[in-house]
Amino acid sequence: MTETKIGIVGGGQLAGLLAEEVVRLGGHLYSLDPNPECPAAKMGAIYVKGDRHSEADIRALADLVDVITVDLEDVNVDALAKLSEDGIPVIPDPKTLAQLTNKLYQKEVFRANNLPTSPFTPYDGESADGLASQGWPAVQKAAEGGYDGRGVAIIKGPEDAEKRLRVPGFVEAFVHGALELSVMVARDALGHVKTWDTTEMEFDDRGNLLAYLIAPARIPDETAAKARDLATRAIEAFNGVGIFGVELFLTPEGELLINEIAPRTHNSGHYTIDACATSQFRQQFNVLTGKPLEETTQHSASVMFNLLGEEGFEGKTVVDGLDTLLETPGVHPYLYGKKSCFPLRKMGHVTVVANSLEEAQALADKAKSQIVIRGDKRIKS
Ligand code: ADP
Repeated sequence: MTETKIGIVGGGQLAGLLAEEVVRLGGHLYSLDPNPECPAAKMGAIYVKGDRHSEADIRALADLVDVITVDLEDVNVDALAKLSEDGIPVIPDPKTLAQLTNKLYQKEVFRANNLPTSPFTPYDGESADGLASQGWPAVQKAAEGGYDGRGVAIIKGPEDAEKRLRVPGFVEAFVHGALELSVMVARDALGHVKTWDTTEMEFDDRGNLLAYLIAPARIPDETAAKARDLATRAIEAFNGVGIFGVELFLTPEGELLINEIAPRTHNSGHYTIDACATSQFRQQFNVLTGKPLEETTQHSASVMFNLLGEEGFEGKTVVDGLDTLLETPGVHPYLYGKKSCFPLRKMGHVTVVANSLEEAQALADKAKSQIVIRGDKRIKS
């Protein structure tokens, strides 16, 4: 169907899941990563050795392909900007990437565009006093470099001030009792937008990783539609082209607040592979190759959970119980081919589809108890 050559900076599971889709459609995905056994290489990408922070390596990747995208936002954005100046298509635009990799800048754009977000104050991490500017508990966020909760510190009171991050960013008001929502947005170069239905995220407190993704979210239709509208407006405010994950809070009072935007396919969008007319990866392919966006309608209720490395083990990856999952209708496991495993490492995910969310949740709970992914050695305590 297509001979399009796509380059992706980074070779993690998002690149891997895109590789599976691109290969299925007859295209080629070239993935730049230092590890020849990275998920993307295991999942069908053409492996290119190199580092996502190296300008020379990114340029070498660009020489092989027609268009460049990124696996995660932690890449050499300046190198991508230079490629873009030289006329090489980069999606999302490096300008958008530079803006979205800075969480403080994101917040400022939300505020400037009247997009609701929790109140915030820029903060450099230096003095303990600055922490209190939005009250207690204080939510402190690093402007750059954070993901999966690593750039976030929730500080209960002045007595915990020493736990603050010594990095520039901001403090924001703690949002109490909120439901966490996500909206996946696709926007093409002509400005056409498609969103998927609003989903609900439940977190695993141990690693601040997504525990369950519930699609669609169990909220009123009107609120779900409003979240999709806000997410669209947020991506338009950044002139974003590509696939984006927009995370929001829904307060007990029914107020929607935008938390943050990820400039890429997202863990909360994996369910789209099995539950929607078009997956986030197919849509990413469409945007990258200039094809029209397709319908995003959801055809099945869905619950997704991540397969995290079992605590207490490390070493060579061992998977127990996979066959049981493979034999269960409606249960779709995805493994990322990571050869080594450590506690809470994201090793794969399982999407469950069913006629109702209750049914999907029951199947997901059962599936979760049937599969264990771990290292082959016990960690000595
Ligand atoms: P990351 O990009 O590292 O995932 P987030 O901004 O999503 O960082 O924050 C991680 C988690 O911290 C959120 O999913 C949420 O559970 C919690 N959190 C973040 N901001 C707030 C807030 N203002 N109030 C309450 N909880 C928050």
